[in-house]
Amino acid sequence: MDIFCRIANKEIKTDLLYEDDLVMAFNDIHPLAPVHVLIIPKEHIESIADLEDEDEKLMGRMIMAAKKIAEDLKIDSSGYKLLFRVKENGGQEVPHIHLHLIGGARLSENIKPIE
Ligand code: AMP
Repeated sequence: MDIFCRIANKEIKTDLLYEDDLVMAFNDIHPLAPVHVLIIPKEHIESIADLEDEDEKLMGRMIMAAKKIAEDLKIDSSGYKLLFRVKENGGQEVPHIHLHLIGGARLSENIKPIE
C-alpha cells in the first residue's frame, strides 16, 4: 500500500488541514515554500494518466479543496501554484494522485526538462 493510502486510512498521522467525503489535505513533510499542502483523493488512483471519465467529480473536488485551503491560509489574493506531477518524466514519486498547493512566497520557475 502506498504512503498516501496509509494516510487516507489514518494509519499514518499528518497535520490534517482539510477533509471531506472524497479528499483530504495535509502539509508536505519537505515544504518547497512557506505553504506547501498536498491534496489527495481518499480512493487509490495511481496518477492523472490512470483517470477514468467517472473521476471528473473527484478531480473537480480536489481543485475546489485547494481553493478553499488557499483562502483559509490567506494566500488566495497573493497567489499560488497548483501542480500535478505525472509518472516518471513528470517527477512523480508517490504513486497516488496528489495535487501540490504551493505558495506564501514568490516562486521561481524551476520545472525544466533535464538536458
Ligand atoms: P511527488 O514528487 O509529486 O510525487 O511528491 C511527493 C511529495 O510527497 C513530496 O513533496 C514529499 O515531500 C511528500 N511526502 C512524502 N511522504 C509524505 C508524508 N508522510 N507526509 C507528507 N508529505 C509527504
